[in-house]
Amino acid sequence: MELWFTEKQTERFGITAKIKRTLHTEQTPYQKLDMLETEEFGNMLTLDGMVMTTERDEFVYHEMVAHVPLFTHPNPRRVLVVGGGDGGVLREVVKHPEVEKVTLVEIDGKVIETSKKYLPSIASAFDHPKVEVIVGDGFMHIAESRDAYDVIMVDSTEPVGPAVKLFEKGFYEGISKALKEDGLFIAQTDNPWFKADLIRKVFRDVKEIFPITRLYTANIPTYPSGLWTFTLGSKKYDPLKVDAGRFRDVGTKYYTKDLHFAAFVLPKFVADLTK
Ligand code: SAM
Repeated sequence: MELWFTEKQTERFGITAKIKRTLHTEQTPYQKLDMLETEEFGNMLTLDGMVMTTERDEFVYHEMVAHVPLFTHPNPRRVLVVGGGDGGVLREVVKHPEVEKVTLVEIDGKVIETSKKYLPSIASAFDHPKVEVIVGDGFMHIAESRDAYDVIMVDSTEPVGPAVKLFEKGFYEGISKALKEDGLFIAQTDNPWFKADLIRKVFRDVKEIFPITRLYTANIPTYPSGLWTFTLGSKKYDPLKVDAGRFRDVGTKYYTKDLHFAAFVLPKFVADLTK
């Protein structure tokens, strides 16, 4: 008998993946966590039935979350990751020698534990000397932080459960206070095919708080529609004005210096969401 995992991305559309076996399944205090061994994309982490990361395409998302903001800021010493319990963003952040300390605040310790066990190539930096891990609510951590971070990355689930408030204007205002005077942040902001209203609202909210607000995209095959967006808010540094000398090879498979700029060139129907 064949086993297939299906994520319904809308009521009428979804993706499906052939499964070798279920490696782990549990209901945590926050969400339904499954680790599946797929035939096409390797091990896959799902939360509440939504794909979070897979061994085969994770590099795209993690490289674009980490390197765009870290090459935009000229001296990113203190970094915060909200969410990110699979560890992929951490792995990319510690590749930057300027980073002195990176703090990860993940609400669900089970995600970290299960990722370490079944996604070793992704969850490889949790024991790095520059890494601090806090199991807690990122919303509260931001509310309690002032002038603390150069760069903040919001690697959350979609706006469901504990992540709903991470897409609200109040959270972005909190991020602005938690950042130093020349700080910047990025957040994953879902896809333009099925979540256009969310992108439009988040971009508008961030634009009312940060002098520089930009949207960039990446192709992630196992994410809804395959076209993903990231919203960047910056107090001073513009990702489109990064000095060429700032870039160097950090061992990536998707991100490049040219793609850093190209990722901000948006298809018209996506650019219209920022108007
Ligand atoms: N890349 C994935 C995506 O775009 O859907 C997200 C991956 S990461 C595993 C998402 C993490 O955000 C989950 O582990 C979830 O537990 C965490 N999370 C959700 N709400 C949170 C909150 N309020 N504070 C901290 N972490 C949160």
